[in-house]
Amino acid sequence: MDSLKPLIGLTLERLQDVAAECGMPRFAAGQMAKWLYDKRVTTIDDMTNLSKTARKKLGERYCVGREDPKMRAVSVDGTAKYLFEGAGGRDIEAVMIPDRDRATLCISSQAGCKMNCYFCMTGKQGWHGNLSAAQIINQVLSVPESAQLTNIVFMGMGEPMDNLDAVLDTIKILTAPWGLAWSPKRITVSSIGKLKELKVLLDTTKVHIAISVHSPFSEERGRLMPVEKAYPVKEVIGLLRGYDFAHQRRLSVEYIMWHGVNSDMRHADALARLLHGADCRVNLIRFHAIPGVELKPCAEQVMVQFRDRLNDLGITATIRASRGEDIMAACGMLAGKAKPKQE
Ligand code: SF4
Repeated sequence: MDSLKPLIGLTLERLQDVAAECGMPRFAAGQMAKWLYDKRVTTIDDMTNLSKTARKKLGERYCVGREDPKMRAVSVDGTAKYLFEGAGGRDIEAVMIPDRDRATLCISSQAGCKMNCYFCMTGKQGWHGNLSAAQIINQVLSVPESAQLTNIVFMGMGEPMDNLDAVLDTIKILTAPWGLAWSPKRITVSSIGKLKELKVLLDTTKVHIAISVHSPFSEERGRLMPVEKAYPVKEVIGLLRGYDFAHQRRLSVEYIMWHGVNSDMRHADALARLLHGADCRVNLIRFHAIPGVELKPCAEQVMVQFRDRLNDLGITATIRASRGEDIMAACGMLAGKAKPKQE
């Protein structure tokens, strides 16, 4: 069974190749897509409008590829964290965040991450492999709340722009009429800003973008995020300024706040200058202490003052509510290896 290739994660074009390979007519690709992404079957035998011969031939090389989560932990605030088989022997995590009439799933695109951001648990474990589009879409299809999901955010483990092809295939499956047929307005991709890949994402999709900034000063950001040396934040914002974020899509700037590091008014003023002319909103995020990192969260009052200063300077800023801290599911805490607290 292990040598069978998964069908989920394949776009319609790739399913057409599979149909040809298995001696099926071209339109069988559309039938398979409907079974996989609309009816969400878990076995090839469930694809009952394919002939028995076709199903047998398909089953010799392929499987549906759905994998249930290995573990579930639920926070006191209702946030649920799921552990899935990842890559390179490492598990990965997805987090479902319920909020009134919304249910957002935060999904992973890599096992670990190469970017080594100082404040991030995922970065601390290094990179163990890219997830396939099958492994990424499986998180959406296989969490128990799948049918209730209203939003998807690529903000879990990994840098999505470092696994661009699989992320683009997943977005295609999520948004295509033959796939899940979601509006791209329900999807947000977060990035540290790898310029070339980010431009491809901007040019080929209409999803919302979230950019991790965390400091407006290059040297300081470089200490927190080594990627600053290759992709300075000024250039990232410069690229984003060239796109329309006032109408169909939204740009968010992610800013984790640390005590004594990036939370004084000098930072607020410089951040406002950096973002001048870019149609965006700033999400101020509480830091959650992680082992081996000396950064400290800053006081609520400081966050409020910082937010108000940005708002006074014409930059829309809000403080993002923190969710799932007790199960290590909050921002920057995903590790994919610690045993989550059981339900
Ligand atoms: S913050 Fe994002 S880009 Fe940075 S190490 Fe963590 S997962 Fe990677």
